[in-house]
Amino acid sequence: MAGTEGRPRRILVAGGAGFVGGHLCARLLADGHSVLCVDNLSTGRLRNLDGFVETGRFDFVEADIVDGLAIAEPPDAIVNLASPASPPDYLRAPIATLRTGSVGTLTLLELARATGARLVHASTSEVYGDPLTHPQAEEYWGNVNPIGPRAVYDESKRFGEAACAAFAREYGTNCGIVRIFNTYGPGMRSDDGRLVPNMIMQALTGEPLTIHGSGEQTRSLCYVEDTVDALVRMIERDHRGPVNVGNPVELPVHRVATLVKELTGSASSLTFLPALADDPRRRKPVIDLAERALGWWPRTDLRAGLRKTIAFFAGEREVLRR
Ligand code: NAD
Repeated sequence: MAGTEGRPRRILVAGGAGFVGGHLCARLLADGHSVLCVDNLSTGRLRNLDGFVETGRFDFVEADIVDGLAIAEPPDAIVNLASPASPPDYLRAPIATLRTGSVGTLTLLELARATGARLVHASTSEVYGDPLTHPQAEEYWGNVNPIGPRAVYDESKRFGEAACAAFAREYGTNCGIVRIFNTYGPGMRSDDGRLVPNMIMQALTGEPLTIHGSGEQTRSLCYVEDTVDALVRMIERDHRGPVNVGNPVELPVHRVATLVKELTGSASSLTFLPALADDPRRRKPVIDLAERALGWWPRTDLRAGLRKTIAFFAGEREVLRR
């Protein structure tokens, strides 16, 4: 896609019915592209695609990328977002997660190889595991427990990176890897088990906000439209990555809880539960490469992003009450 910025293209988004995928499809359509969304709806929802067919430039195929893909018209670019991303989701489906990250990623790489399409692969900060260096730059190789319960996700993403690198080396396939850090925003499932929806739903329903461990563990939260903007920039350039995409503003989890309480005006208390297995203690991306290679950094302030996310979940509760 290098040198084709701004020109309408046909883009295949695997996992496009998910949280990030829904926002990415919306952005690509708004930019004038045609989008083919392939999703098995295991953790995604058709409502994330509301209004897209009406553009006349959007197709949806319900399919599992593990089973292979027959695509009528070759895409110009492929974005691989397909994978459960929330710990409860991938812990519920460990083998499917491994198959999606390995066999599924190979399917998309073969398609990219056969069509000459650029493939942007969504990897994750989880490849750094429980990091021994802080903050995390792309040169760090990670500290992952390969046999712990979370390994099905972390290692499938590490495999995906290795596969992209090998296809680029052996076949010259045009691959770009992005390592996405915690992303939040409207469109997340209220029950997906991730930090932000959990806390917002607890605050809105007046339940205690649950914190695993001491709450001193840190997270860096990036608003979804910023993450999507990085993906779009990665599609348009030929950079191989890996490129960290995340917000370098680091917050202890207990601070996220108090911020959610403040912004929702909730009287909920904070409850401390046992720490989760292999839960990383610190997370903070170095984003110098994203700034240099993509001209990207997160634009959305945490309070502004949380307000939009809270409004979304408050709206969802209203719909459910009706
Ligand atoms: P999500 O669970 O909302 O979306 C994933 C989508 O992939 C879902 O629509 C699901 O149905 C689909 N899918 C899963 N397995 C599939 C398969 N075998 N075939 C076809 N479709 C399949 O998760 P998300 O938060 O939107 O994450 C999207 C991608 O970004 C994932 O690859 C995830 O690992 C990565 N990522 C996300 C974050 C984050 O904070 N959201 C952080 C790091 C990396």
